[in-house]
Amino acid sequence: MTTYPDTRLFIDGTWCDGAEGLRIDVVDPATEEVIGQVAHATKPDMDRALASVANGFEIWRVTPAMERSKLMRRAADLMRERADAIATMMTAEQGKPLPQSKLEVVMAADTIDWFAEEARRTYGQVIPARAPGVLNMTHKVPVGPVAAFTPWNFPINQVVRKLSAALAAGCSIIVKAPEETPASPAELIRCFADAGVPAGVVNLLYGVPAEISEYLIPHPTIKKISFTGSTPVGKQLAALAGLHMKRATMELGGHAPVLIFDDADIDKALSLMVAHKFRNAGQVCVSPTRFLVQDGVADRFTEGFAEAAAKVKVGAGTEEGVDMGPLANSRRIPALQELIGDAVDQGGRLLTGGKRIGNKGWFFEPTVVADVPTSARIMNEEPFGPVAVINRFSDPEEAYTEANRLPFGLASYAFTTNSTTADQLRSRVAAGMMTVNHLGLGIPEVPFGGILDSGYGTEGGSEAIEAYLDTRFFTQAG
Ligand code: NAD
Repeated sequence: MTTYPDTRLFIDGTWCDGAEGLRIDVVDPATEEVIGQVAHATKPDMDRALASVANGFEIWRVTPAMERSKLMRRAADLMRERADAIATMMTAEQGKPLPQSKLEVVMAADTIDWFAEEARRTYGQVIPARAPGVLNMTHKVPVGPVAAFTPWNFPINQVVRKLSAALAAGCSIIVKAPEETPASPAELIRCFADAGVPAGVVNLLYGVPAEISEYLIPHPTIKKISFTGSTPVGKQLAALAGLHMKRATMELGGHAPVLIFDDADIDKALSLMVAHKFRNAGQVCVSPTRFLVQDGVADRFTEGFAEAAAKVKVGAGTEEGVDMGPLANSRRIPALQELIGDAVDQGGRLLTGGKRIGNKGWFFEPTVVADVPTSARIMNEEPFGPVAVINRFSDPEEAYTEANRLPFGLASYAFTTNSTTADQLRSRVAAGMMTVNHLGLGIPEVPFGGILDSGYGTEGGSEAIEAYLDTRFFTQAG
C-alpha cells in the first residue's frame, strides 16, 4: 500500500474537512486499493468559499503586479523543491509513470513562472483623440473571483493553467479539483499558500461536481468560469454561464487527426507518434487518434505502428521502465471495449491489443485498429484511451475532408517534408492547434485551446491572461 495523504478542503487560508464530515475514497488505479480519502464539500462549505474568494479578491486586486509576480515565483520554486514527493502522490492516485508525473510538476512550475511574468505586462492603450485636450485610454482590470473546474487526467497541469492566469491578472479563485486525483492538486495549492499568497485568494473544493458547478456558476460572487472536461458537460456549463452572463473558457474534447503524407519521414513519425499516443494511456484531450496515411507509406507506417505498440511496456507507474500505466478509472474499460468491438464489427482490422490486461488494476492493452469505416463509433467519439485508428488516403483532398469531418477542432498533427503541403495544412485543417513534423503543443508560452465543439478560449500564450481581464475605457477632456 502506498503512503498517500488524506486531502482536505482549503477555504480562507485553512485546511479543513467539509461541514458534514463527508469523505470520498481515493483508489490507486494500479492496485484498486483504497489509498486515502478526500473531504467532500456541501453547501455550507461552498458559502464559506464564496465569502472567502470575495474577500480574497479585494486584497489581491490591489496587490501590485510586481508583488503578485514575486509570490507566484516563490510558489513555482516550492513546486520544484517538492517535485519528487508530489510526483509520487500523482502516480499513486492517477497511475501515470513516475517520470511523467515529475515532468508534469516541473512543467507546472514553468507555467507559474511564465504567468508571473505576464502579470507585469497587462498593458492598456492610449488612443489618439479626435479633439485637442482629450485623453482616450484603456486599462485592464481583473474580472473578479473565478470558479475553475478541472479533470483527473493531468491533476496539476489542468489546474495550474487556470490558477496562474487568474492570479497573474489579479483575480481570486475557487478551484474544484478532481475527486479521483485530489492530493497532487492540493499540493499545488499548498505551494501558493506557503509562498505567502493571502488567505481567500485561492480556495480549493472537492465534492459532487454537478452540485458544485450548479451552485457556483450562477452565484453573483463568481464573475468567470473555466472548465476542462468532456464536450457534453462543457456545453451544459457554458449554457449555465450564458444564462447568468458569466465569462467562460471551455477546454473540451478532441479527436485529433494525424496526416502522414508519402514524403514524410516515417521513422520520425513513428517514434514521436507511438510515444505520444500511449502517453498517459491516451487519456489526453490532444491525443492523436485518427491516423490518416497516404497510400505510398500506409503499409510501412501501419505495420511499424502496430509493432511498436505491442512493445509498449505497460505496468504500475511506480515500476522502473514502464511506458504506460493503468487507466485512471474503471469506467474507461467497458467504454473502450465497446468502441473497439464496434470498430471490428464494422470491418476494422484489430492489429494489436483490444482488451483489459489481467483483473487487478485498470490496465488496458495498447491497441491499433486499421481500415475503420467512418460509420464506426470510434471514428466519431473521443476514445480517451490507448487506441489508435489507422486509415489510408490517396489524394490529400480526402485527408483534409476526413480531418475536418468531425465537429471537434482541438489538436491536429501532420508529417511531410514538402513545404507547400506544410503551408496548406495551416489553412486546410480546422483545429485550434496544428503541429507539423514534431510535438510542439502544450508549453506555457504558446496558445492551447480548441475551436467548434472543442471549446473556446486559450489557456496558454499571451492571450490566456486576457480571459481574466476586463478592458475598460476611460476618456477625459482637459
Ligand atoms: P465526465 O464527462 O463525467 O467528466 C469529465 C470531467 O468533468 C470530470 O473531471 C468531472 O469531474 C467533471 N464534471 C462532470 N460533470 C460535471 C458538472 N456537472 N460540473 C462540473 N464538472 C463536471 O467524463 P469522465 O468519465 O470523467 O471522462 C471521460 C470523458 O471526459 C472523456 O471521454 C473526455 O472526453 C473527457 N475528458 C476530457 C478531458 C480534457 O482534458 N479535455 C479530461 C478528462 C476528461
